[in-house]
Amino acid sequence: MTTVPELERVLFTKQQIAARIKEVAAEISDRYAGKDLKLVGVLKGSVFFLTALAREITIPVKIDFLSLSSFTNMARSPGYVRIAKDLDEGIEGEDVLIVEDIVDTGLTLRYLLQTLAGRGPNSIGIVTLLDRTERRLAQVPVEYRCFEIPDRFVVGFGLDYKQHYRNLEYIAVMKPEK
Ligand code: 5GP
Repeated sequence: MTTVPELERVLFTKQQIAARIKEVAAEISDRYAGKDLKLVGVLKGSVFFLTALAREITIPVKIDFLSLSSFTNMARSPGYVRIAKDLDEGIEGEDVLIVEDIVDTGLTLRYLLQTLAGRGPNSIGIVTLLDRTERRLAQVPVEYRCFEIPDRFVVGFGLDYKQHYRNLEYIAVMKPEK
């Protein structure tokens, strides 16, 4: 495992993440059997999770991506969001699962849910790698979550700090800034 001085401790190892993703993928495969499942990934943080999850899902699945930009660029600042890159295809009649890296305040997801619900999907749900319910401001229905985490800034497995650390195979807590 690569050691990085800016990191305080590992929260979830590569093995723990893989095992948990497998469990969640099994639940999703059961629940969506016979449905028209589309995974919608929110760029860029969810890419690593989405690909790992999709590989473990045992039913046919489509994937698409969108990206959001917020008017404030500070880490963890909820700000105001809008779609910067939209989905390539429509979602009408499909069973959509939004794939997130982390649900924090829930404000990003509230906006996304409202926007996508207006496009006529058959159903719309949320699967997230990490969930920090402690800081929730908007109540969003998270159907599947891999891990609940404490109120500390985390990186790895897709999550960044100033675009770094996304490629770590594990999830770690950053050292507080001095
Ligand atoms: P929300 O709208 O739920 O507050 O924000 C979710 C977004 O904030 C995530 O998709 C992620 O980009 C960012 N975020 C929230 N907490 C963390 C964290 O601990 N680490 C990283 N890297 N990003 C975070």
